[in-house]
Amino acid sequence: MALSEWSLIERFFARRTPRNPATRLGIGDDCALLAVQEGHELALTSDTLVEGVHFFPNVHPEDLGHKALAVNLSDLAAMGAEPFAVTLALTLPRADADWLDGFATGFFQLAERFGVELVGGDTTHGPLTVITVQALGAVPEGLALRRSGARPGDAVFLTGILGEAGLGLRRLRDKTAAARDEAARRHLLRPEPRVAAGLALRGLASACIDVSDGLAADLGHVLGASGVGACLDWDALPLPSILRQEADSGGDWRFPLECGDDYELCFTAPQENAARIEAELAALDCPLSRIGRIEAAPGLHMLRRGIRIDMEPQGYRHF
Ligand code: ADP
Ligand code: MG
Repeated sequence: MALSEWSLIERFFARRTPRNPATRLGIGDDCALLAVQEGHELALTSDTLVEGVHFFPNVHPEDLGHKALAVNLSDLAAMGAEPFAVTLALTLPRADADWLDGFATGFFQLAERFGVELVGGDTTHGPLTVITVQALGAVPEGLALRRSGARPGDAVFLTGILGEAGLGLRRLRDKTAAARDEAARRHLLRPEPRVAAGLALRGLASACIDVSDGLAADLGHVLGASGVGACLDWDALPLPSILRQEADSGGDWRFPLECGDDYELCFTAPQENAARIEAELAALDCPLSRIGRIEAAPGLHMLRRGIRIDMEPQGYRHF
């Protein structure tokens, strides 16, 4: 039997997440109604995934459901906001129950882990699959981690590993035997939003961004917004060993800085906060590297083999 729009919403999306105390009215009316916590600001973000641009048409729907939510939670993490609700706008060429079931499974597994309730959305027919998730988070007034707060002398930090997702993408494209590299595939298909790290950084980091378009481009946004520059230390970058070997043997050393999809947090902090930050993130089991330093003069530089190289910020560009 064909799925009608509402039966599709009912079956796959309505009331699948635990009720959040902030939700006064969830799916089913013209709008959801949410209470906003006293003394907090609402952090609001949305991200769209387009078939053929952000994912391969044959991607596993569970991975896609996970990623559509993860990239939005990553934006909240980068602001130091605590996620509590999401909406989901789906455009689909057909209502395929198996696909929807897989998508919902990946989506709700992640939603549940972060206590995020799906409170609304939209479902439309269209020529290709397009997924827009909007995520809402709360952050105590004045404590949001903006891009504009980096100051000369601050340390530059990065969570996790750099370039693993790019490696995963390269291998999916190559379709070589190496495509079975699970770690790289997982980083690409199932990024883990650094929500707990973002919360721990409130009041300690001076600026923060999540790395979605490549470290050089995204750190470039922080530098631009803050009116400063930075010098990174090549040896301190947390690279997968294969990318470091490749670079050391004459390969493209810029690749891990320019490939996107890492969804790690890149942030800056005054030197006096460094020890506290390292302790807080270690307690969360969140890998952390101190990768460079903020400078007064604009521009992004890399110290590599004793040479200071001017990095032209480049990442993924849609237009
Ligand atoms: P309207 O026509 O008023 O926009 P819809 O018929 O599109 O309402 O949606 C009915 C209800 O279902 C609304 O509460 C809407 O937020 C929700 N909804 C629609 N699509 C989705 C979806 N993919 N996921 C979650 N909720 C959805
Ligand atoms: Mg609608």
